[in-house]
Amino acid sequence: MTAVRDRELPRQAVPGAPLLEVTDLRTYFSLDGATVRAVDGVSFRLEQGEALGIAGESGCGKTTTALSLVRLLPPNARIEEGSVRLYGIDLVEKSPNALRRYRWREISIVFQGAMNALNPVNTVGDQIAEPIIERLGLDRKAALQRAGELLELVGIPRKRADAFPHELSGGMRQRAMIAMALACDPAIVIGDEPTTALDVMVQAQILELLERLRRDLGLSLILITHDLSVIAETCDRVMVMYAGRVAEEGPVGEVFARPKHPYTQKLLAAFPNIHADRRTLEVIPGSPPDLRDPPPGCRFAPRCQFAMDVCRTDVPPEVTFGDGVRVACHLYPQGSDGVPITTPPDANGTPP
Ligand code: SF4
Repeated sequence: MTAVRDRELPRQAVPGAPLLEVTDLRTYFSLDGATVRAVDGVSFRLEQGEALGIAGESGCGKTTTALSLVRLLPPNARIEEGSVRLYGIDLVEKSPNALRRYRWREISIVFQGAMNALNPVNTVGDQIAEPIIERLGLDRKAALQRAGELLELVGIPRKRADAFPHELSGGMRQRAMIAMALACDPAIVIGDEPTTALDVMVQAQILELLERLRRDLGLSLILITHDLSVIAETCDRVMVMYAGRVAEEGPVGEVFARPKHPYTQKLLAAFPNIHADRRTLEVIPGSPPDLRDPPPGCRFAPRCQFAMDVCRTDVPPEVTFGDGVRVACHLYPQGSDGVPITTPPDANGTPP
C-alpha cells in the first residue's frame, strides 16, 4: 500500500518523548447545573506499536478518556486540567483548528456500531476517500485508489468500494470502518468497542485483523471494551477504570493473573473464563457512584469488602510496583511491593 505519512507533522517533536503521554487528565460535564467528574485525574502512556486496553463498567470514563485525546467531546464537556502529549506536544493547548490536523492524521477512531457510524447514502469507497481528500489534499481519483488499497488491506475486495453500507455484512462494515480509520496513516487508532454487536466468529476475525495491522503497520492501539477477553487477546497492557479514575494498570498477563485492586478482582471474577473451575459468576454488589457527588475518598469504597476508615476519607495514591503494575488502593501503600497490607492504616492514614 502507498505510504502517505505526512511528515509536515513533527513525529518526534521532543526527542525521546513517548508516543502518547496523558497526565492528570480531568474532563468534566455540565449537567442540569451540576458538574459530572467523568474523567478525574487519569494518567497513562502509550509507546509506538503498543496496544492498551481500557476496561471497566459502563460509565467509568473509558470512552470520555479516549475522546478527550482528540477533544471529540459533546458541547457540555470540557477538559478541566491535565495534558495529552503526542510526541511531547500538548494537544490540550492546541486551538480547535490546530487540533484538526491531528485527528485522522495522527489519532483516528473506530466508533462503536458500524451501521450507525457509516453514512447510509454514500458508498464506502467515497466515505474512506473523504478524509484522504480533506486531510491529505489528494485529488478524488488518487483518494479512491487509496480507498481501494485500504479495503484490500482489511480483507474487502476493492470492487466493493462502490457498495453502500447496507449492502455489506456487519463484519464487512466494521472492516470498512477500520479502513477509514487507517485512511490518513495515523500513528494511533482508538477502537471504541470495535467488536460489540458482532457475532463471535466475526469478532475473532476483526481482532485478528487489528493484530495484523498493528504488526504490519507499526500501529499503536487503544481498545476500549467491557469485554476482558478482547483485551486478553489483543493488548499488551490493560488500564482498569472505575468512576473516572484509574484503579489498576499494567501488563495484561500480570494484571489478569494476579489482580491487585479489589475492583479488578471483582471485574475478573464477574467475567466467564473457560479455564477457571467456576460454575457461577460473581456479581459486583451495588452500583457505581453518582459522579455529580462522588464519595470523597476511594470511589469504590461503598462496594469494597476491604474498605477501611482511610478509604472513606482519603483518595488512594497511585503506587507502581516492580512488576510494572500501578495500583490506586490503600491496601498497597508505597513499600508494600504489591503485597496487600493486613493491618489497616491508622486514623491519620499512615500505613502500618
Ligand atoms: Fe477498597 Fe480501600 Fe482499596 Fe478502595 S482503597 S479499593 S475501598 S481497600
